[in-house]
Amino acid sequence: MSDIENLNFKSGFISLVGRPNVGKSTLINHLVGEKVAIVSAKPQTTRTLIRGVLTRPGIAQIVFVDTPGIHKPRYLLSEQIVAQAMYALNEVDWHLFLVDGTQAPGKGDEFVAKALGEKTKRTFLLLNKMDRIPKADRTRYLEAYQAMGDFAQTFMISAKHEHGLESLVDEMTAMLPVGPMMYPEDEYTDQTTAAIAAELIREQVFRQTGEEIPHASSVYIEQYKERTENLTYIAAVIVVER
Ligand code: GDP
Ligand code: MG
Repeated sequence: MSDIENLNFKSGFISLVGRPNVGKSTLINHLVGEKVAIVSAKPQTTRTLIRGVLTRPGIAQIVFVDTPGIHKPRYLLSEQIVAQAMYALNEVDWHLFLVDGTQAPGKGDEFVAKALGEKTKRTFLLLNKMDRIPKADRTRYLEAYQAMGDFAQTFMISAKHEHGLESLVDEMTAMLPVGPMMYPEDEYTDQTTAAIAAELIREQVFRQTGEEIPHASSVYIEQYKERTENLTYIAAVIVVER
């Protein structure tokens, strides 16, 4: 039976929200199994809405919308980012609210919880980085985060070490509506290969440089040529604010 004829097949969009640096990009990459979102120890490195597509053949397809991290706008770029993130929230039926479980809730988490508002009823709360949460702090932090909304379910996970992701995917699948495949099975993002290349280069800009490169940097791909099967020629321009 093909998935088109499969009347039990489920599909839907799920947004991923959380303040910068909690591990949203890491989670998307590990859920989808391919590197689609850049990961950095520095906050605010994700600037576009990236979709990761998780297909469980014959069962379900989940399209994840990565958000650039809802936070208080400080300059124009951030205002656009916040507007984009809020748009994503309203377009999507279910949400994953990711928090850093190694710390008590902060202003950034409160801001996100407020933005979710009533939507917390259709939100899974994910306490990430459980590999680093001291046992003594677990319950206290868990309860503090749970008090921030009326969450449908709570999970303790480690995105980086892939702990707890299987049951998370099971529970997400369980609440998805019956629906068609939206993307081909072998597709994991709607970004072009060149766009992914630009993001990977931008990730290296953060990794290889310290404070001297401002966060507001952009990468433009000037040339992208597949020379042989295993060799691609890429010419990129890195633009920095100052
Ligand atoms: P984002 O800003 O929310 O997208 O966060 P990133 O995915 O870029 O991750 C921020 C930092 O947290 C990176 O250094 C990740 O390696 C780290 N990180 C993400 N998930 C985990 C986890 O489960 N455990 C630990 N110890 N670190 C993590
Ligand atoms: Mg990110």
